[in-house]
Amino acid sequence: MPPTHFADLSAEERIDAVTKLGLPKFRAQQIARHYYTRFEADPLSMTDLPESARGKVKDALFPELMAPIREISCDDGQTQKTLWKLHDGTLLESVLMRYPDRATLCISSQVWCAMKCLFCVTGKLGFKRDLTWEEMISQILFANTYIKKRFWKKEDGTNYAIRNVVFMGMGEPLLNYENIRKSLEIMLAQDRLSLGRRHITISTCGIIPWIEKLIEDKVDVKLAISLHAPNQELRNQIMPIAKAYPLEELMKTIDRYVKATDNRIFYEYIMIHGVTDKPELAHQLVKLLKGRLAHLNLIPYNENPAIDLKESKKADIQKFKQILEEGGITVTVRDSMGREAKGACGQLGYEKVKDQN
Ligand code: SAH
Repeated sequence: MPPTHFADLSAEERIDAVTKLGLPKFRAQQIARHYYTRFEADPLSMTDLPESARGKVKDALFPELMAPIREISCDDGQTQKTLWKLHDGTLLESVLMRYPDRATLCISSQVWCAMKCLFCVTGKLGFKRDLTWEEMISQILFANTYIKKRFWKKEDGTNYAIRNVVFMGMGEPLLNYENIRKSLEIMLAQDRLSLGRRHITISTCGIIPWIEKLIEDKVDVKLAISLHAPNQELRNQIMPIAKAYPLEELMKTIDRYVKATDNRIFYEYIMIHGVTDKPELAHQLVKLLKGRLAHLNLIPYNENPAIDLKESKKADIQKFKQILEEGGITVTVRDSMGREAKGACGQLGYEKVKDQN
């Protein structure tokens, strides 16, 4: 268990904590304002606290849960990858993507992953442990502080802060359900990160019982499904988890989710040369998604020397897309930010993490 952090505390607990340090109650709200509104996570920089209190607050309430050890910038600084060292020494990554009108953070939910998808380098590392919700929130707070320090502005001159969070870094979020739930609470709470429901995306390879739990708990954020194949046979080949949670049942569960939430599902489909990009697969996809509340995102495969697979040719992606469009499916091709710095989709930090193994 990581040590208790300020982020763990409710409003009342914050008051208890500062009182224990011999500070007046109002300091609790003052620190919370720094932390959640101004993205200041270092008490030593909270200059409206008495100097004598800053160190005490830091030691008692702001233990370092994770430290950034490497930063890689690409796409002319639009994409920023952070490699983290956690309090127990393990490594993991998050990716900040700046667009003209918004900033999106791709965060990790587990230390590596147990799913072993054929195309994914994180799968090659195996599973180490779940991230705590504090560690997930820390990734966002750090990104906000990072943006603030650089005075990054949007095109209209206003300041950036993370407004969109996607659970598309390392790990399978639904297998770390309780921590995800808690992290969502913090992201959505108005006196905490105050993000919009439609601005948070959970991405899953399709763990049926936990999708059921999302329905039961009425978790109302965006849901992305890593589909990657339109039939059971191909899905079995590239995503071993498909054997445990067959496509037909998965689609039925998703239908129940859509009925319960009225939320459109974002399907991710990876374009791997000669594997997932054949025209007949596009026709099968049309059959599968037709009539369903769906948005399909084609993701050009992000190559990695550790895996012998290639990205689809541009012309094949276009042809694939056209078949889907003609079939009436809403489809986009993801512009893969972060490619040149191995920025996207579990590609980050792999070399370094692998050395640690
Ligand atoms: N476990 C979750 C989230 C992890 S990764 C899930 O499966 O959805 C986020 C997305 O990146 C998933 O759709 C995953 O399949 C995809 N991905 C993994 N490796 C990739 C690669 N090399 N190129 C493109 N997409 C990749």
